[in-house]
Amino acid sequence: MDLPNLNAAEDKVSYYLDNTWVQCESAACMKWRLIPRRECEGFEPDQPWYCRMNQDPFFSQCSVPQDPFPKISQLQEFGLKVIYSKIPVGSLVMVKAGKWPWWPAVLSPDPVSAEYVQEDSDGDVEKYHVEFLGSPHSRLWASASRVELYQATPAEPENLKVSLKKTYKVALEEATKMENVTCEERLQLCLFKPQECRTM
Ligand SMILES: [Zn+2]
Repeated sequence: MDLPNLNAAEDKVSYYLDNTWVQCESAACMKWRLIPRRECEGFEPDQPWYCRMNQDPFFSQCSVPQDPFPKISQLQEFGLKVIYSKIPVGSLVMVKAGKWPWWPAVLSPDPVSAEYVQEDSDGDVEKYHVEFLGSPHSRLWASASRVELYQATPAEPENLKVSLKKTYKVALEEATKMENVTCEERLQLCLFKPQECRTM
């Protein structure tokens, strides 16, 4: 079989076009794996994906380190699609919003729509509704690319504005208390809640 004679750049483009990054849904792993795009076509939107499902034997265990993840600019350049694993509602997360530092938050239902996740036309996660901890709480629809599971107590961000120090401290105290409770219990601690249906 003749192989097309591609230069390095073109080769890289076709490599990225034919593959999709998927994220392992094991909370202890959350690593990204590059798999052939055709493999994703059979995925159900709500079906979780784990490293062990990878048909590439070199990357089919959670213990295998992740390949270098491309930069956002490369993703855009190559039109690469990324599928984020769906994090359960009530999860404790860190969120990066605008110029704010990474901030502790809870994935919670939007008080108006009662939804906590927005999906694109393929049914893949695009945004999460988050309730930021601190004093006061606030809420936002955050891009899935800027939401990460809360792992351990983060260090205070460098150059944190004096005006934010107090609320950041409160946020961390709340996050620490929420670390070892269930998602349901964490949702009870959220302040923005969908209105309950009123019965006549
Ligand atoms: Zn894994």
